[in-house]
Amino acid sequence: MLATRENLVPDVAFADVAGRTILVRADLNVPMLGGRIIDNTRISRFAPAVATLVSRGARVVVMTHLGRPAAEYNPIFSTRPVAEVLSAALQCDVRFVPDCVGNAAERSVGALPPGGVALLENLRFHKGEIDNNLAFARRLSILGDIYVNDAFSCSHRAHASTHAIAGLMPACAGPSLLAEIAALQKALDAAHRPVTAIVGGAKVSTKIEILKNLVGKVDTLVIGGGMANTFLFARGLSVGASLCEKNAAATVREIEAAAQKSGCRILLPRDVVVSRRFVANEACETVLVDAIGDDVMALDIGDASRREIGDALRQSRTVVWNGPLGAFEIPPYGDGTFSVARITAGLTRRGALRSVAGGGDTVAALIAAGVDQDLTYVSTAGGAFLDWLEGRPLPGIEALKSSQHQLKGDVTWLG
Ligand code: AMP
Repeated sequence: MLATRENLVPDVAFADVAGRTILVRADLNVPMLGGRIIDNTRISRFAPAVATLVSRGARVVVMTHLGRPAAEYNPIFSTRPVAEVLSAALQCDVRFVPDCVGNAAERSVGALPPGGVALLENLRFHKGEIDNNLAFARRLSILGDIYVNDAFSCSHRAHASTHAIAGLMPACAGPSLLAEIAALQKALDAAHRPVTAIVGGAKVSTKIEILKNLVGKVDTLVIGGGMANTFLFARGLSVGASLCEKNAAATVREIEAAAQKSGCRILLPRDVVVSRRFVANEACETVLVDAIGDDVMALDIGDASRREIGDALRQSRTVVWNGPLGAFEIPPYGDGTFSVARITAGLTRRGALRSVAGGGDTVAALIAAGVDQDLTYVSTAGGAFLDWLEGRPLPGIEALKSSQHQLKGDVTWLG
């Protein structure tokens, strides 16, 4: 039996990996400064997946990209330091392979002892990686018997190591990719309604697809941040000197019409915190949204809006959140976002709400509010999370689903 989870994505937990070489695509794109890794989190989170495969009798070959090098060798972007940190995390020797394809790489990987672990040099030193080149994917595929994608955060890109390769060899998903899709699928399934989405951030124009997708799926859509100004303006209110996309009014009306058709309530701020200058700790005041002066900017949601969002969350069973509700980096305009974050965290801790949040600024705001550990799931997947919010299929995951049908005969599945 081919054991699978989550919408027919094959799970490596059910593949017989003993005596095999497992080629794992991870996202070990860690932040670097002057050739040194400044945050190990991605490596330490990934290490247990390798340890599990090793304990099941596999050899493990890890591949990742690092940064955005031009498609050629550049020591600044070498994954060599990642191999050292992975060695320390696993407490075993991780062999660094100085090129991700070619004869030397094949020899080095071929000589791995049972239970051995190797890390390949940066995939993006070859143009074939981001071109999703089949010949390049074939050269990678030679290095293993089974391909595992454990990089949800890279799966929105159709690259050779996330897409083409899955059609060339038995392919399945690793534990953190499965955990991420399980959390996201649950967030928008029908079983936990009412669902509220909170969408904030600077502009409507960068989130049109997200808004259009969500109005068809959620019961309440809370709009905050700069994009709320655009909604208010489209409803005929004056937003003074606030960040506002005046030419997006037609788009806003389209989104509002779609929301009305599907029975989704759109919640806009009732009151906002305004100031004359966009500077930290400058004089500011809270005004109702129909009283924004010509010379001020709306930089955060006010107390009445925070309370109203809190009420909406108390009536919901699930919340999906992307985007800050104000200019949270500049005090005191983070207070609205932090207050809603604390309400979300409190309800989640009490078991009354399932909460999923993601996106760079949103994660930063949750960390600043001290509640990033309290939500049900916080996605650090950036672009992949946003593509999921837009309702787009992710090429790396689609490739795993279709590969199962072509290649299930090549792997023994347990269970
Ligand atoms: P995004 O990348 O679209 O999620 O936007 C995040 C950015 O929007 C953050 O840098 C916030 O400071 C900014 N932002 C949120 N609300 C406002 C606002 N009312 N006025 C100006 N900038 C805002």
